Amino acid sequence: MTGGDLKLRDIHDRMFQSFGPQKWWPGDSPWEVCVGAVLTQNTNWGNVEKAIVNLKRARLVPAGSADHGIALRYAEKTAGYPKEELAELIRPSGYFNLKADRLAAVARWWLENAAPIMANMDVNYARKSLLEVKGVGPETADSILLYAFDMPTFVVDAYTKRIMARVRGISENIHYEDLRRLFMDNLEEDSALFNEFHALFVRLAKDFCRKKGCGGAGCPLLQTCRSSVAAGNTKCESAESPPAETAKG
Ligand code: SF4
Repeated sequence: MTGGDLKLRDIHDRMFQSFGPQKWWPGDSPWEVCVGAVLTQNTNWGNVEKAIVNLKRARLVPAGSADHGIALRYAEKTAGYPKEELAELIRPSGYFNLKADRLAAVARWWLENAAPIMANMDVNYARKSLLEVKGVGPETADSILLYAFDMPTFVVDAYTKRIMARVRGISENIHYEDLRRLFMDNLEEDSALFNEFHALFVRLAKDFCRKKGCGGAGCPLLQTCRSSVAAGNTKCESAESPPAETAKG
């Protein structure tokens, strides 16, 4: 199956027409986006927000919007912060000792790599170096590069796999890199498009395409979704209305 067969752009456009721009990532600065991407591993976004409030109070994350130059100062402070105190600040996000180590490691990576990455914007170089940081997997790396550095790399998560399995019959066990490649090879290399596409998938998964099944007749992919069409669209039409929910998580 090729990206053309999958009509990836059509999936994006249907979601965009229904939901509109999602204005992602929920964070005021590149450094806050990076911190959020590390802390959101294995927890919900509400817990991440509590940890980020603590980090802002401790001045390890800028309180307002800030550019990459200012982000360097915060990364430097985070890299040198006592581990026990850092862990206590991020306790609400869970696995706080592990995440304190990861956050410090990513802060050191940021100090060494943010400026060269901004200078040459080579996404493959940036991705390779970030994936070498202990505890940083492909979803975290791609989230940081796309949402903090505005680099064209596609973020895949469990929502992406679930939706693509239902809408286009792709195995839900597909390897991260294979599904990422499918999007990268068959869409124009456009960070704004990748940014919006991932955010729309999250919105769809939370509002309609939930783990327990189809979420409602208002799903913008109803007419193009294989599992819905195969069920004669009755499965979705009989489901209850979904709650409004838009935050990252
Ligand atoms: S029609 Fe149902 S299964 Fe298909 S994408 Fe929408 S909610 Fe998911």
